[in-house]
Amino acid sequence: MVDFALSKQEQKIFDTAMEFSKKYIVPYARELEEADEFPWKLAQLAFDAGLMNSHVPTKYSGPGHSMVDETLIGEAFGYGDGGVATTFMANNLALTPLLITATPEQMEKYIKPFATGKEPQFAAFCLTEREAGSDAAAVKTLATKDGDEWVINGRKCFSTNGHIAKFLTVFTTVDPTKGYKGMALHLVDKELPGIEVTMLEDKLGQRASFQAEIEFKDVRIPDDCLFGEVGKGFKYAMQTLDRTRAGIAALGVGIAQRAVHEAAIFANHRRQFGKPIGAYQGISFMLADMESRAMHARWATRYSAWLVDQGQRNTKESSCAKFFATDAAMQNTLDCIQIMGGYGYAKEYPAEQMMRGAKLTQIYEGTNQIQRLVAGQAILKETQVTELDTGFRLSYSGKDYPDPWGPREGKVPDFWSKSKSKK
Ligand SMILES: Cc1cc2nc3c(=O)[nH]c(=O)nc-3n(C[C@H](O)[C@H](O)[C@H](O)COP(=O)(O)OP(=O)(O)OC[C@H]3O[C@@H](n4cnc5c(N)ncnc54)[C@H](O)[C@@H]3O)c2cc1C
Repeated sequence: MVDFALSKQEQKIFDTAMEFSKKYIVPYARELEEADEFPWKLAQLAFDAGLMNSHVPTKYSGPGHSMVDETLIGEAFGYGDGGVATTFMANNLALTPLLITATPEQMEKYIKPFATGKEPQFAAFCLTEREAGSDAAAVKTLATKDGDEWVINGRKCFSTNGHIAKFLTVFTTVDPTKGYKGMALHLVDKELPGIEVTMLEDKLGQRASFQAEIEFKDVRIPDDCLFGEVGKGFKYAMQTLDRTRAGIAALGVGIAQRAVHEAAIFANHRRQFGKPIGAYQGISFMLADMESRAMHARWATRYSAWLVDQGQRNTKESSCAKFFATDAAMQNTLDCIQIMGGYGYAKEYPAEQMMRGAKLTQIYEGTNQIQRLVAGQAILKETQVTELDTGFRLSYSGKDYPDPWGPREGKVPDFWSKSKSKK
């Protein structure tokens, strides 16, 4: 039986995260955006409330949340502010590749001390380089084995929380000529000699999150800082993004939903031509479209996360959820501004900050063009067209995408017979 209800435990996590967001993020979002300093006090509160380091198992001092739980927290954070959400959720991004690959010894040595303690700690995910953005397999940060150590040389950019990170999750290559087959995954202590951090000084929105460029000059790390196997770094990065894109989608859902609420409150109160503007269909139809986007985005997001919790692959679903939810966030915040007219454009109200924040969600963790590319390739891969004497048979081979009608045989369609007769 299909059940859309959250479990008691999930509802509790969502309520806790939403209360946190409404109490500590919503009222201070503007201040945090303009402060230009890391929100340490807020981070402490989020850490104390068990809302950070979602996937670290309880055995290693983490909250042991599921992927669905993470989308509930992400939605609540996104509802509060995109920048704050990015700051706190970046730990999930940096920890996921390590959690996928770590041996029990590495979990004890690196992950447990990170999640333990009274104060929050941060890690940064370092995949992007100046010449390797969407083309993540083009990384040039070199890892060279030297006795019992690895030596790291190269430069990463746009690393969220890179400046305050305790350690860096670095995607390296042992041989750039090998492309994705040469990639590896290393954990690098941020305080080691040879590491230089330069801040990305200014950006359009999400200013309560901070990015750094990180240069590695002959940085020496112990052998056990290699996570997983050499040659599988690209695979680990993709496995990570399959999971964390559901988190970014959730952030988009939160922004999209907040935009509906802000617009609805305004439309109920603002009177023009003697009536609240919500009484005009031109406005109420917009609200309906906005709510519909948020609602569809939420279910696509939770479904893509639920697949992970079931141990199933979710590449296509998380890509679709990511682009749909973050496009929804963008459109809803634009519509919110439109509904609020001149007030939407003014900094006195939150709509313009929400819109600037939403824009980033369409770009990071793989732009929405790349999400469509990934989803499109997955669809083509799981679709089989077999030519028969009598016509053709279309079937979907992917387990997660059952064709409700099953394999079909039919008449040769026009385009098929025409292309055949040309041969
Ligand atoms: C605020 C912020 C925080 C970030 N945080 C992190 C982080 O913590 N760690 C990290 O590693 N990275 C991070 N990033 C980097 C982010 O993931 C990249 O910016 C993103 O993946 C795009 O790469 P790019 O900027 O190099 O753009 P490019 O790859 O140069 O793309 C430019 C444009 O070309 C399009 N394009 C490229 N290839 C194709 C294609 N094949 N088909 C169609 N269109 C294509 C893109 O969609 C885009 O519109 C962050 C970025 C920002 C701005």
